[in-house]
This record gives sequence, structure tokens and C-alpha cells, in this order.
Amino acid sequence: MLEIKNLHVKLEEEDKQILKGVDLTVEAGKVHAIMGPNGSGKSTLSYVLAGRDGYDVTDGSATLLGEDLLDQDPEERAAAGLFLAMQYPVEIPGVGNMTFLRTALNSQKKARGEAEMSSADFLKFVREKAKTLKMGPEMLKRAVNVGFSGGEKKRNEILQMAVLEPKLCILDETDSGLDVDAMKLVSEGVNALRDEGRGFLVITHYQRLLDHIKPDVVHIMANGRIIKTGGPELALEVENNGYADLLEEA
Ligand code: ADP
Ligand code: MG
Repeated sequence: MLEIKNLHVKLEEEDKQILKGVDLTVEAGKVHAIMGPNGSGKSTLSYVLAGRDGYDVTDGSATLLGEDLLDQDPEERAAAGLFLAMQYPVEIPGVGNMTFLRTALNSQKKARGEAEMSSADFLKFVREKAKTLKMGPEMLKRAVNVGFSGGEKKRNEILQMAVLEPKLCILDETDSGLDVDAMKLVSEGVNALRDEGRGFLVITHYQRLLDHIKPDVVHIMANGRIIKTGGPELALEVENNGYADLLEEA
């Protein structure tokens, strides 16, 4: 599904190397978690995969379903099935949430040569999805994320994911700032999308989320590299002992 080889990334504006040789393969049907200290490059990895400006790839490659990702525009990557739930979702004043979702879905369908969804069909479709995330119709009418609470913004990211039905879902600290109930809703939203044809990359600081979203593989990232890969027990080890021993080992 996703294959990253020896990925080196620096900032465009400064001579600062952030990713220093990331190797990572996410298979279809699997959930991979990435944990790691602040500043280790987890968000940078997700941004570079999604196509955000401001980074130079100096070495290595990343492919989605065998196609080179890094030379595509962000919207091409999205149409190809890549989705990023952002750590800090942005507010978009003046753009209704429903319009945003329908436009995103239909432009992806168009890019893939599929039939677009009518307004009436979309309305039914999105209301159903929103209901499972306990988001009322009024949140669909408001401008994207404007005035949403932290938890509502994160749920709105999961709603986008549910609507777009991506192939590879990257969640960047979707659990941070969530109360227990919201965390459960978000986890259920993720678990509902788990499927043999879909892969997940879940970036998190906490075991808590991984109690709900059981990962197949756990990676520890530090200083721009994956320093250790293991099973779910690795997340428990971090929860109990922190990163010091793993950093020492690396
Ligand atoms: P993480 O998500 O693991 O906490 P980030 O990917 O956000 O880490 O950041 C990795 C490192 O790169 C940090 O030291 C951060 O300060 C630095 N960094 C990322 N983007 C920028 C930027 N635009 N300007 C300066 N430093 C940056
Ligand atoms: Mg981050």
C-alpha cells in the first residue's frame, strides 16, 4: 500500500535536515502506529506524504500502490487515495462544511473518472456518517471547523475520512485533546473503516488510543528515523518506561 524507502527531507528555507532515512512499509489491511518524542519528525513525515509545501526531499522514495507519490500534486495524491487527518485542523471561514465535503468527494471522483454524487444523495450519505460520529446537522451547515471545539475539529477530520473512503489513512495525533467519549467515537470511526483494502498510519503519543484501535505494528521514531519496530507490546513498553532506554539502544 505505502512504501517509503530511505526518505531524507530537509526544510526548503533552512539547511535543516528533519527526516534522515525513513524506511516504512504499510500493507493493505494493516494498522501501523508511530510513536516517538516531540520533534522527532512524525508530522513532517505526514506532511511530506500529503504534499505540503516547504520541504525538500533530498533522497529516497515514497510510493502509494506502486505509484510514485512525491512527484504528484496534493490533490492527485488525495484522488489516488491518500488522506491526512491533521494534528491541527484549520478553520476555513466562509466555506460550509457540507459544501467542502461534497466538493472534495466529487472532485476526487471526477479525477478517478467516476460518476459524481448528486446533492440529494450526498445529503443522505453525509448525514448518516455524521450521525455515527455524533455530529448534528448544524455542524454540517457551519463553516469548516470555525468555532468548533478541539474535539469537534478532530471528529470532523474523521468525518472527512469516512466520506472520502481513502486507501491510506494517516492520522496525526487525532487523539490529542480528546475527552474519553470523543476518543471512543474517533476510534469507532477508524475501526469502522478498517478493511482489507485499506491501510492506516496512526501517529500517537498514547497507549490509550491503541487500546481502542489495535495496531498490527508499532514503530518508534526518533531524530528523523524509525529506531525500532515491533508489535503492540512496544507501545506498552513506551507507556511504562518512556523513550530513554529505546533511545539509548538506538
Ligand atoms: P513531531 O511531529 O514528531 O513532534 P515535527 O515533524 O513536527 O515533529 O518536527 C520535527 C522537527 O522539525 C522539529 O525539531 C521541528 O521544530 C522542526 N521543524 C518542522 N517544521 C519546521 C519549520 N517549518 N521550521 C523550522 N523547524 C521546523
Ligand atoms: Mg507532530
